Amino acid sequence: MSKSSTVVANLLRSAVWIAAVALAAPTWAANQLNGIRLHDAPDSTRVVLDTSQASSYKIFTMTRPHRVVIDLRDTTPAFKAPQFSSRVVERIRSSARRKRHYRVVLDLRQAARAQELVLKPIAPYGHRLVIDLFPTDGGAEPSREPVRAPRGKREVVVAIDAGHGGEDPGAIGAGRVYEKKVVLAIARAVKDKLDAMPGLRGALVRDGDYYVPLRKRTEIARGKDVRADVFLSIHADAFRMPSVHGASVFALSERGASSEMARWLAASENRSDLIGGVSGSWVSLDDVDAPVAQVLVDLSMDHKMEASIELGEAVLGSLADVAKLHKNRVEQAGFAVLKSPDVPSILIETGFISNPAEARRLANPSYQRRIAGAIADGVQGYLLANPPADTLLASLIDEGFVRYVIKRGDTLSEVAQRNRVSMRSLRALNSLVGDRIRAGQVLLIPLGQGSGG
Ligand SMILES: [Zn+2]
Repeated sequence: MSKSSTVVANLLRSAVWIAAVALAAPTWAANQLNGIRLHDAPDSTRVVLDTSQASSYKIFTMTRPHRVVIDLRDTTPAFKAPQFSSRVVERIRSSARRKRHYRVVLDLRQAARAQELVLKPIAPYGHRLVIDLFPTDGGAEPSREPVRAPRGKREVVVAIDAGHGGEDPGAIGAGRVYEKKVVLAIARAVKDKLDAMPGLRGALVRDGDYYVPLRKRTEIARGKDVRADVFLSIHADAFRMPSVHGASVFALSERGASSEMARWLAASENRSDLIGGVSGSWVSLDDVDAPVAQVLVDLSMDHKMEASIELGEAVLGSLADVAKLHKNRVEQAGFAVLKSPDVPSILIETGFISNPAEARRLANPSYQRRIAGAIADGVQGYLLANPPADTLLASLIDEGFVRYVIKRGDTLSEVAQRNRVSMRSLRALNSLVGDRIRAGQVLLIPLGQGSGG
């Protein structure tokens, strides 16, 4: 992504009109405001104005009550007022001003710092003026679950990154199935499955309909609130030919792609920041600190690549139980979101949303749960074979079995299936008569029954 594609300016420079592009459109063609959208993220709220051309605008904030005023020069409205509920924006008003200017007012529920971002057209959008609102009263910081540390040992943390979100819908399939929605549902289900597994915990990188810059995704996963041991990016992309279908798994390649399809998908995914809209310090890793990144990458890449491919094989193996595979081996290409040097990272294409039958399946909650179960099983298989040191999982494996605390809704047959042991051996090991188990009960589960698919 080139820096020239975005113009980032701080607010309170209200005295002058800011022209988004040096050569404004011919004077006879007025700008048109075609729509307003809102996306709430954990730490900010994004307001997007869709316009027919690059806008000339002024933005300023006012207090008592808190509001942000956006004046668009020589602009006429052609939009329906958006339906929304937002933590930061209470309502949106708009009105025509003198000299064909048009004013949009965002009435805020709390004080917020506003930062604007001008985006050039990129499919599926035309010109966009984006205003990010960062609450200044505090209280809006995301509260991520702290890492639990039962009995002094930490759980293995799996970061689950639902691709796209907010301004970036991802691929849109037949029947208006949105990739960003499908992958969030699958990511949440993967977290539920992992949380039910002994010694493992899932952490969602994105947990709502908002955009997270590619570089921020890996930073969230590696940050102190998450400290992920494994990184999964979940997708359901489109391809040029609707006949293409099936699940596939990708790892990073620093030296070219393993196939034309892998190259094409990586290029498509790496455009995500342009569509989603990225400002300030989150401009792409490739531009900003390539030298630093390169050193880190060289140091640990060989080991990490091997681990990523092993992880990918485990997931591919268990996906084969529930889905057709597009390719039987882990593919590689230069996906920006996988450039986390020290964490085994894979990108999972759960299917191609451009295939009508697959789009229907991917939109189905029970299929989403089955795919999620297969992903979690594969990850568990990999981690049982490669438990990170000093984790609860590693010590359980040393003891030859896993302790599992029964959760509400668990059944003995599910627990047996999930851990690939027979009901009979579970009964014997835990002195169970029949299949009755209760929440809070601790079961011993033997290891080494060929998990990992
Ligand atoms: Zn995608």
